[in-house]
Amino acid sequence: IARLFANDQERSIWRKKSLDPAYARWIAPLSSIALPEFVNAENDDGFAINGSGYLDMPLLLDTIQADLKQSNALIETEFDYAEIDVQEKHVAWRDRSASFAIFCEGHLATSNPWFSFAPYKPAKGVIGKITTDIQFPDTAFIKKHFLIPRHDQSISVGATYNWDQQDDSPDKEGITELETFLTKTLGDSWQWVSTDAGVRPATAGAKPIIGPHPRDSRILSFNGFGSKGSTQTPFFAQALHDFLWKDAELPAGVLPSRFLKKQVAEPKRWIAVEIARDRTLERIKTGDTVIDATAGNGHDTLWLAQKVGPTGTAYAFDIQKKAIEKTRTRLEKANCSEQAILIHDSHANLAGQIPSTVQANAIVFNLGYLPGGDRTVVTQTESTIAALDQSLAILKPGGILSVVLYPGHHGGNDETAAVLKWSRQLDPEIFDVETVNHPAGIEESPFPLFVVKR
Ligand code: SAH
Repeated sequence: IARLFANDQERSIWRKKSLDPAYARWIAPLSSIALPEFVNAENDDGFAINGSGYLDMPLLLDTIQADLKQSNALIETEFDYAEIDVQEKHVAWRDRSASFAIFCEGHLATSNPWFSFAPYKPAKGVIGKITTDIQFPDTAFIKKHFLIPRHDQSISVGATYNWDQQDDSPDKEGITELETFLTKTLGDSWQWVSTDAGVRPATAGAKPIIGPHPRDSRILSFNGFGSKGSTQTPFFAQALHDFLWKDAELPAGVLPSRFLKKQVAEPKRWIAVEIARDRTLERIKTGDTVIDATAGNGHDTLWLAQKVGPTGTAYAFDIQKKAIEKTRTRLEKANCSEQAILIHDSHANLAGQIPSTVQANAIVFNLGYLPGGDRTVVTQTESTIAALDQSLAILKPGGILSVVLYPGHHGGNDETAAVLKWSRQLDPEIFDVETVNHPAGIEESPFPLFVVKR
């Protein structure tokens, strides 16, 4: 690379850096390399970088993707952050579970709910390909913009910086900027072959964002590789691997937690089922008896079964066979079948299905439809209320009833109103009733209702 200074600032930064012996092997005087004819080693001020090259990124990505596909390690699908379910020992997504979830979504990370505190400064850049009659030796030229001769005889040109736009189409300003540079450097003897644009996930401080979320250590970031950072991607891929599997430390300067120095607590994401889970878990222990009145995909049944352990009992109801099967598989995979009793029946028959001697420490309802299933099968107000009444009767003193309500779903509003009305007529001498509402006051948001028996 022939690296020419575009201004005095670059020159003075270089003067300091060139004294660092670590650079010695990589730098040389301009006169030591083959230069394109428009560069004059005597008049132009700069230096040469030895041993450099270019990486054909689209080809690399296609190759990696083909490789992953072949080994069945790539899923191409619409992705929704809400489908990620973080548990204590694993992260689940749809029917899969893994030790970690690592986000590498480039500038789209600006809408990642976990890393919303990270100061991304996405920078759009225009690049292009030209042809020219001017002879290029096997040397790239950089003077603020770059010209890189490629093996197909074309020349890559770039790049601009635009912090206001975040789309992938080459903007007019950017193209004009490159054209001005090209004309100044090559005169009239060049033609466009193509132009392109992309958005760099640049960060404040120009360092990538790598490592665990400060609070959810199963959620990680491997992202924020802007222009400078991108050359370090292989290095940091190894570093992250060693962090996860060999207990090695990551450099503090790249950790997501560096942005939380002031300890401004960013709001924890507010998810009704997680609040219901956390409250319920506080009140149960190994050996307890618990009931999941709406097994659905089995998420709640699983944490209930895990908490009570093999000496406890977790009953789960669902009217859909598919839900019972999903729950069974989930429990089996987690080795929790022993303590689980799955009942393919309506929770309105709770009292009939559960032996009259049994008393429950926790009973949970998650109303509405089965996610990923038939949305026309929803819980019905009448059977829900009947089941809630029976639940209170078998709840142990100190036990908790948790109901997640879905006012925003079709039909969910009537059911929510009916359950709230039901909860208001409970005897306050016996029951403590509490609802937890969305912190931002979003009315359509699901929310939990808790009833604790005194
Ligand atoms: N709305 C929640 C999931 C609810 S799953 C969410 O979005 O995460 C609700 C489950 O209750 C479904 O699997 C459904 O089949 C089940 N269900 C509906 N009516 C029922 C009843 N009367 N008895 C038991 N389960 C019922």
